[in-house]
Amino acid sequence: MDHGMTGAGGATAEFILSLNAGSSSLKFSLYEAGDEPREIAVGQVESLGPNARFKARIGLEQVEDDLGSANHHVALRAILEKCETVLQGRPPACIGHRIAHGGVDYEAPQLLTPEVMEKLALLEPLAPLHQPHNLAAVRASIEAFPDALQIGCFDTAFHRNHPWVNDTFGLPLKYYDRGVRRYGFHGLSYDYITGTLARIDPELASGRVVIAHLGNGASMCGVLNGRSIASTMGFSALDGLPMGTRCGQLDPGVVLYLMDQEGLSASELTKLLYNESGLKGLSGATNDMRALEASQQLEAEMAIEYYTFRARRELGALAASLHGIDGVVFCGGIGENSAAIRARICNGMDWMGITLDARANTDNEMSIGIGRTKVLVIPTDEERIIARAASRALNERAMAKD
Ligand code: ADP
Repeated sequence: MDHGMTGAGGATAEFILSLNAGSSSLKFSLYEAGDEPREIAVGQVESLGPNARFKARIGLEQVEDDLGSANHHVALRAILEKCETVLQGRPPACIGHRIAHGGVDYEAPQLLTPEVMEKLALLEPLAPLHQPHNLAAVRASIEAFPDALQIGCFDTAFHRNHPWVNDTFGLPLKYYDRGVRRYGFHGLSYDYITGTLARIDPELASGRVVIAHLGNGASMCGVLNGRSIASTMGFSALDGLPMGTRCGQLDPGVVLYLMDQEGLSASELTKLLYNESGLKGLSGATNDMRALEASQQLEAEMAIEYYTFRARRELGALAASLHGIDGVVFCGGIGENSAAIRARICNGMDWMGITLDARANTDNEMSIGIGRTKVLVIPTDEERIIARAASRALNERAMAKD
């Protein structure tokens, strides 16, 4: 089948695979390299373990399959086999990996050399639920594609130039020096949104903007002239907004109490704070916002009330960090799709210039504000940020060869 995959001047384009590995899934997107990479396939292997399942759109086709038992290696092999209809014997020239933590060193994508991999492995204790899986996928990918470029794109990188005061905790300074800092996450999403904003509204992009990434994980970022000033997420991906199953901001005294008085162990606390809290914990039912919005249960309404109240508080706090606000951008599964949640977050924020146009909001239009502060909805695309970085890496390699 001819998919017409030829680059400018008729040269055969190289392929880029972007991978986002979690504990239970391996998400992927396949692109044709270029200044603006062209997406060819997108999907995931979900439920890694004994009953893994493959689901993707490859070219124009929807493909689904039971894989049986699969780890990252098997999942990657399945992705390649299924994408062979478009790859046609030409393996990806660059694999771009989403990596949760780049520590204090990495503020840009990195070639994943053995030295860099060693440094990233040292960061595993800082992101124990994400980093080990991210790096497992890198190792599987190096084994599968020994000749390809492997690059890492970090969720912390976008936040690396925060003013010191936004990165520290009120602990003895030696802990800051040992890496106990507010790193911030969701950086690939914020990078995409600020880039898109620069294109569609350059004036706003050069101002003070709060971006609300509201998905299963959720955070907000204060951006000044395209650069992150402050994030609601801190040392771990637990802080800030309540999320699908994560608690969000929590008095550390609560953790001490649960350890000392209720006898919870570190692993029980980890499970509680990461997997059993947030919308799921408060509602006692689910982390799925759609289901909560449809529910008649009082607890579902209470979970939404807490979620939107905390989002409003953080919006105000970030506006203070930015010395004012010119715009708010909503993205992520909830931010992009739920008019009701956007309305509840913005409710009562007219004093900050945030007033929604109810019709534009309900119709999911891009521009939904009528106050002096602009309010936008922009679908995010973290994979595209990885693909762009991979395209640049391929260009640099080609130029080095010339
Ligand atoms: P992840 O962080 O896993 O990438 P997403 O960005 O896909 O998650 O967001 C998932 C969340 O978005 C879920 O809570 C889901 O219920 C919510 N969501 C998706 N579509 C809608 C919708 N139309 N209305 C309300 N919530 C929605």
